[in-house]
Amino acid sequence: MDKEKLMFFKELLLQQKKELLEQARKTVSSLSQEGEEVPADPADRATLEADRNFLLRIRDRERKLLAKIDEALEKIENGTYGICELCGNEIEEERLRARPVASYCIECKRKLEALEKIQR
Ligand SMILES: [Zn+2]
Repeated sequence: MDKEKLMFFKELLLQQKKELLEQARKTVSSLSQEGEEVPADPADRATLEADRNFLLRIRDRERKLLAKIDEALEKIENGTYGICELCGNEIEEERLRARPVASYCIECKRKLEALEKIQR
């Protein structure tokens, strides 16, 4: 991949990271606000618990995505960005534009997903 494209994806990844961190910060601050008043009504409390689980799940997803973004940024630095981790071929540029953290080409990704379905 040439330098210009690498810079493009680096910008894309940094932008995603920034947005994620902002989102995560908002999630965390809304969580700590909720902690201050617990509703007396058990039904409300259940809703609150469900909300909290939802938020925690989002945070888990954010954490994983952040780790992936950092991984991709590292790959840009060491020159392995855009190369499929399984077959070693270049990942389709269209795929990277849609999902800059992708670490497999579309063919390997399909195989992996098929495998996951069998194992489930
Ligand atoms: Zn592949």
